[in-house]
Amino acid sequence: MTFARGNVHSGSASAHFVLVPMMAQGHTIPMTDMARLLAEHGAQVSFVTTPVNASRLAGFIADVEAAGLAIRFVELHFPTTEFGLPDGCENLDLIQAKGLFLNFMEACAALREPLMAHLREQHQLSPPSCIISDMMHWWTGDIARELGIPRLTFIGFCGFSSLVRYIISQNNLLENMTDENELITIPGFPTHLELTKAKCPGSLCVPGMEKIREKMIEEELRSDGEVINSFQELETVYIESFEQVAKKKAWTVGPMCLCHRDSNTMAARGSKASMDEAQCLQWLDSMKPGSVIFVSFGSLAATTPQQLVELGLGLEASKKPFIWVIKAGPKFPEVEEWLADGFEERVKDRGMIIRGWAPQMMILWHQAIGGFMTHCGWNSTVEGICAGVPMITWPHFAEQFLNEKLVVDVLKTGLEVGVKGVTQWGNTEQEVMVTRDAVETAVYTLMGEGKAAEELRMRAKHYAIKARRAFDEEGSSYNNVRLLIQEMGNNTNACG
Ligand code: UDP
Repeated sequence: MTFARGNVHSGSASAHFVLVPMMAQGHTIPMTDMARLLAEHGAQVSFVTTPVNASRLAGFIADVEAAGLAIRFVELHFPTTEFGLPDGCENLDLIQAKGLFLNFMEACAALREPLMAHLREQHQLSPPSCIISDMMHWWTGDIARELGIPRLTFIGFCGFSSLVRYIISQNNLLENMTDENELITIPGFPTHLELTKAKCPGSLCVPGMEKIREKMIEEELRSDGEVINSFQELETVYIESFEQVAKKKAWTVGPMCLCHRDSNTMAARGSKASMDEAQCLQWLDSMKPGSVIFVSFGSLAATTPQQLVELGLGLEASKKPFIWVIKAGPKFPEVEEWLADGFEERVKDRGMIIRGWAPQMMILWHQAIGGFMTHCGWNSTVEGICAGVPMITWPHFAEQFLNEKLVVDVLKTGLEVGVKGVTQWGNTEQEVMVTRDAVETAVYTLMGEGKAAEELRMRAKHYAIKARRAFDEEGSSYNNVRLLIQEMGNNTNACG
């Protein structure tokens, strides 16, 4: 069944964007920001979602309605059981076994017909002018062609990582490499860059994935441009090079999280927080400015139980105040037992543990936060950049190792904890990649008074200012959003 919620202020809008996010927190959250941003700039938006994901977005939907933004939520039935998925498994973070990834991707592709039917039905009322869809939703290319409108892809990477991904794919760099740990130099990259196959994006091995990956790439190549959640001044050379290599326009419209900068909407971003936000703020208020390290590894990282314990012991040894977001729960009862068996008691005066969903932006923005230990998902990374905090980088998989390189080697706003290997999504091995000593040293160094830490802090603040300038009126990203709406608005009357 297809139904829509929300108001559409068709009269005032210049272009109508259909946004189709991948159902994974790190992909959906930036698209909710994109929807807000486009609507705030006067465009209409249809935001495609499914029942389970819509319920996570309840806070966002309520905000949109309260603000009277022209965002329509198109809620499509997600065919879980039809594709061998458990009932309610509508988000990548709900997949229990890696083998079901393919089923999930097929269920996504089955949204093509109902979405097409919905858009046709809506056509008289408000013809779409452009589809912006996640790179993984390759099937939206067909819809765009059928409607005669452009499709822009969104992958959620920064320019630096997008460029590496393109070069790897164009040159088939990973194809004949058998040794996961062999170092390769990325040819044609504007600066020298070497990394192993395992640390390259696109190395996730799921049986049967090859065909889907080919379709994604094929459709991405056919797409009319890319929307990038970054800003020109952060990584000019990589964004320009990306446009040349991909032979496409890259619309840098970020950091999109900044659409929350002056509002109280940041607390409910992505999902409802699993703890009392007021209590969290009260705790932060009681801490000295810049004294707390925030530790969070996003929504999908499969940090092993042993590694979590080792990380906790490192935090304890550092003697610095911390907020640690742990997604152990019923999945790792041994971690819960370990936390309860003395750890929480020992650190209770200076450590806050958040189980489940944390209001990450609200925390990062607080003046008590002086450092961010992150898995380097791009959203977390760019949120850290906007908050002006230096980072300790702890990549797990996907393009996170590239984001680490951008932060540590290019921007010089963070230091590595020293991860040597990859912890793939869906990992079930029991390995410790980073010792408690390495954690202690990194935290102690980043949060300390040394010259190196001072410089990291200074540069982090510098980029936060640049990010705001890009996003604010007449900044590069601000202007790009306006241009995007203008350019796509010209298609509105042409399609049918
Ligand atoms: N996030 C959050 N609370 C959590 C975990 C994650 O608000 O407890 C948000 C975080 O702010 C970011 C997104 O979820 O916007 C995660 O995206 P990212 O690209 O950093 O990592 P992924 O989850 O895709 O690995």
